[in-house]
Amino acid sequence: MTTRPRILLIATGGTITGVAADRSRPSHYRAGRLAADALLAAVPELAGVADVTVRQPFSLDSCEMGPDHWLQITREVAAGMADNDITGVVVTHGTDTLEESAFFVDRLIEPCKPIVMTCAMRPANALSADGPSNLMRAFEAASTAALASLGTVVVANERIHAAAWLRKGDTLALDAFDRGGSCVGRCGPVEIDTRPRLPARAPGLLAGLARLPRVDVLWIGAGSSADLLSACLERGARGLVLALPGNGTLPAAWRSAAADAIARGVPVVRASRTGGGAVGAATDDTAMLFAAGRLGPPQARVALMLAIAAGLPARHFFD
Ligand code: ASP
Repeated sequence: MTTRPRILLIATGGTITGVAADRSRPSHYRAGRLAADALLAAVPELAGVADVTVRQPFSLDSCEMGPDHWLQITREVAAGMADNDITGVVVTHGTDTLEESAFFVDRLIEPCKPIVMTCAMRPANALSADGPSNLMRAFEAASTAALASLGTVVVANERIHAAAWLRKGDTLALDAFDRGGSCVGRCGPVEIDTRPRLPARAPGLLAGLARLPRVDVLWIGAGSSADLLSACLERGARGLVLALPGNGTLPAAWRSAAADAIARGVPVVRASRTGGGAVGAATDDTAMLFAAGRLGPPQARVALMLAIAAGLPARHFFD
C-alpha cells in the first residue's frame, strides 16, 4: 500500500495571501491578509495531491522581514525535515524578499526531502490571481522526491528555480523570476532540466545561530560618493556588498574606501547592479575583497552575514 504524501505548509504572508479592494486592479492591495486555510480552500484540487499540515508563524509583507524571520522560517523547515510523517515542505512567501529567505534556507539545510518555496505576483482575489496555480505546482513539486537533490527551490509561473540564483526581475509581471538564469526545471509534470553546482552550505550552523551581523548593500551610481561606505562602518556594518556597475568594476574612490574597510577587518564583496550574469574574479582579489560570482546583491549580503556569524572565511558561501 502506498501512503499519501503529507506536505508541511508554512505560510508566511505575501501577495499570495493579499487582498485587493478591486479585483480588476491587482496592483492596489495589502499583502499577508488571508490565513493559510484560505489559501488551501481556494485550491480544492490540492486534496488530490497530498494531505496537509499547516504552520503559520507570521503573516507579513516580505518587505517587513529580516534575519529573525529567516531564522524562524528555517527552523520550521528543519522541523519538517526531521518529521518522518512529512513528505515535503512548501513555504508560501512574498516575492519582494524571496531572494534572501530562499537563499538563507538553502544554505542552512541539506534537504532529505523537497523544500519548495512559492509566491504570487497577484493578490488572492485578483481576476488574474497566480497564487492558486503556483500553490498547486508547489505541492506537486514537494511530493516529488527527486527534487530534494536540488536544494531549496522556488516554484513560480510553471518554472522551478534554484534558490541560490533567484532574481526578481520585474515589479509586476507574472514571469518576474524567469529573467535571472535561475530556472532549473519545469512544472506540471515536474521535470528537472539542469543540476547546478550550488554554493557551499553549513547545515550544522542553524542550531547555534541567534543573531546575524549587520551587512550593508551599497548601490553605486556613476560618480557616487564613497563616503557612504564610511557611514556604514560608523553605524557598525561588519561586512559590505557593493552593487557595482557592470562586471563589479570598482571606481578608484571606492577602491580606497574599500581598503579602509578591509583595514578595519570588514570584508567587501564586489557584486553587480546589472541584475544578470556573474561577476568575475579580478587579479587583485583577496580573502577580504572578492567577486560575488553568480550571487546577486541580496544573496551576497545573506552569504556574508552567515559567514561572519559562523566565524567562517568571508567567501565560504560564495564558493
Ligand atoms: N510586497 C509583497 C511581498 O513581498 C509582494 C509579493 O508578494 O509579490 O510580500
